[in-house]
Amino acid sequence: MNIQLPNSPTCLVLYSGGLDSILACKILQEQGIHVIALYFITPFFGYKLKEQEKILMKKVLADQGIQFEKIDISDAYLKMVKNPEHGYGKYMNPCIDCKILMVRKAMKRLGEFNASFVATGEVLGQRPMSQRKDALRIIERDSCADGLLLRPLSALHLPPTDMENKGLVDRSKLLGLTGRGRKDQIALAGKYGIKEYPAPAGGCVLADPILSRRFKRMFELWPELDVNECLLSQMGKHFILSDKSWLVIGRDETENAKIVSMIREGDIKLGLTAGPGPIGLWRKIYSDVNADLAASILCRYARVKRRLEEVRLSGPGTENIKTIRTVPASDETVNRYRI
Ligand code: SF4
Repeated sequence: MNIQLPNSPTCLVLYSGGLDSILACKILQEQGIHVIALYFITPFFGYKLKEQEKILMKKVLADQGIQFEKIDISDAYLKMVKNPEHGYGKYMNPCIDCKILMVRKAMKRLGEFNASFVATGEVLGQRPMSQRKDALRIIERDSCADGLLLRPLSALHLPPTDMENKGLVDRSKLLGLTGRGRKDQIALAGKYGIKEYPAPAGGCVLADPILSRRFKRMFELWPELDVNECLLSQMGKHFILSDKSWLVIGRDETENAKIVSMIREGDIKLGLTAGPGPIGLWRKIYSDVNADLAASILCRYARVKRRLEEVRLSGPGTENIKTIRTVPASDETVNRYRI
């Protein structure tokens, strides 16, 4: 049973949905601390969380009596990803700056939630980039959280925080976990009766080899890439045409519908006049010099292959801009422009 004392402190815990952050919540809650789980949304994680996972995440927290709050930091996150002060990991994952940004955002919200400190589920030595001892210290320093950032799972290997020194948090009840193993965490899940939990924020697409290559190319080509475009770049097949315009083609009906919902002023939508088939979104167009090429790439993905296809080009709120009769692009053409 969780006992919460009348004047117990409140803590904001960075919550990824994974087991480690749930355990951080539980360890603090067990000391009578009121815990609020902060879940961050960015174009690279959080947004893509499937509805079922979101429900599971909320249910797990509700079962454990933990308050859940969502915070959308998409714009600030995107700005950071384009130029992270501490660099990238193996792919486009700026893990140290990512943590700094989330802790800094949580620190700014302490007053709003009447909370006195921030905690995370970080485990010393679990991740090569952001969970080394020096990286943990940098995260604390650069997020302006000196003395106010607690890592309950590895606290015994780290200097005592202000909360421990003042007696708000009982250090003897914190843990000294290290490394990549999961045995201790799984045992703790059993102790707290946590039977079901979503996969950790492994959903971060910045650590995906294929997507991170695509992001890198796009940030180089279009430094102004915005949140809508980061989301768009994670669905469908992508082509950069010779004039540096961007063609996205849906791989199935669900993606087609999502792509259509993302069309905005200046975009051109491509579809087959003969009936259902792939939908294309053509963006960053400065002339129609590549209209034939875009249409022929779209035809290449028609389910029923015809020698000659007709492709309708239209804009948001307009009927046909033009209709193009074309043949499906060759494999060589498709491979030349695909990213
Ligand atoms: S993997 Fe992604 S979400 Fe996790 S710390 Fe790195 S950048 Fe942030």
